[in-house]
Amino acid sequence: MPQGLIFSIQRFSIQDGPGIRSTVFFKGCPLSCKWCSNPESQQNEPELMHRFQNCQKCRACIEVCPTNAIAYTDQQVKIDRKLCDNCFDCIDVCCSGALETTGQYVSLDEVIDEVCRDELYYRNSEGGVTLSGGEPLMQAEFALELLKRLKSRSIDTTIDTCGHAPWSVFESVLPFTDRFLFDLKQLDPNLHRSETGISNDLIIANLDQLLKNSSAEIWIRVPVISGFNDNQDYFTRLKDLLKGRKIHKISLLTYHKWGTPKYQYLGREYPWHSEVECPADSLEKFKSTLTEGGFDVTIGF
Ligand code: SF4
Ligand code: SF4
Repeated sequence: MPQGLIFSIQRFSIQDGPGIRSTVFFKGCPLSCKWCSNPESQQNEPELMHRFQNCQKCRACIEVCPTNAIAYTDQQVKIDRKLCDNCFDCIDVCCSGALETTGQYVSLDEVIDEVCRDELYYRNSEGGVTLSGGEPLMQAEFALELLKRLKSRSIDTTIDTCGHAPWSVFESVLPFTDRFLFDLKQLDPNLHRSETGISNDLIIANLDQLLKNSSAEIWIRVPVISGFNDNQDYFTRLKDLLKGRKIHKISLLTYHKWGTPKYQYLGREYPWHSEVECPADSLEKFKSTLTEGGFDVTIGF
């Protein structure tokens, strides 16, 4: 059976689909959005995190590191990520929990055992299980088997997707998926490429195919990012693109900076240039534009 690489399972989630849900966060994403609040979701391998504020400066990690990736300079423990080979030996000797991995390989049984602890809550709240990430469809085989197992227990299923996966992968999961939370971040392919790393051609083509070929609910999610898509032109174009299509709802998700410390824990720079949140009155205007298209629109989930 396939193994999955996940970085978290969040129980009692109420923002990733209807009702009370468990959200399984897959690790690895084909996009690298510069404002991403979950940078640990991007790489498709386990990674070392250093919560330096917890470091006791005991220097035990320096002693065990086989590649000399850790040094004590300027009265701080620093990790040279170019030398680190992710052996994780340093974690075993860290007395303070400052060093830890993000991402673990799990079996289907392990995930099913965890999420089915709350089966009763799903049934009583019309909730279920959401596959999120990262991009769950990057681990197509594991995602498909997990969906099949959930459906064999009549558990409601949602896929939260960036939309970038081969259409054949979408086709394979359709019979076992009740809804898609589908991100539409930008319609301009060049702007999409410059700020997420890839063009949006496949994403828009997949959405079109889903709307034509799937009976699953489609919920559109738009992260509203200052300097990227927070303009009237984008929302007018979005309304025109979706008009007349069977969209269950559109959620405008506000930008936040809560994920920025995690970039430091992973030894990376926070890549987004603007930390300004979109003003509330602009969000209301964008909502009105989409509502004129006949859609149910929410600010936030
Ligand atoms: S994970 Fe291994 S190579 Fe990387 S810093 Fe720790 S001990 Fe060194
Ligand atoms: S082993 Fe942990 S607590 Fe000790 S110096 Fe290294 S990171 Fe800090």
